[in-house]
Amino acid sequence: MNIHDLESDWRYTGQDKYLFGVQLEKQNFNSSIRDHDHCEFCFDTFSEAPEDLHEGYCTRDKYHWICKDCFDDFKEKFSWEVINVNDKKK
Ligand SMILES: [Zn+2]
Repeated sequence: MNIHDLESDWRYTGQDKYLFGVQLEKQNFNSSIRDHDHCEFCFDTFSEAPEDLHEGYCTRDKYHWICKDCFDDFKEKFSWEVINVNDKKK
């Protein structure tokens, strides 16, 4: 990971401390856990409201959410592994 590229991006605030190399699930936001959440990078809002984001990538504990745009921009630097949650065979 080239840290200098990251530091020039306003969205980067040290998320690699807890998001580097983690597994992410592509999920529809579900307000049964929390009413809304924010993208870890750009702070866009996830909720079930029409004006907000409805789909994104979350950590397996559903605690951290990342929007599609930030996922695409940071996926290589953060070495994320995307888990297919529709794959039930386990
Ligand atoms: Zn974002």
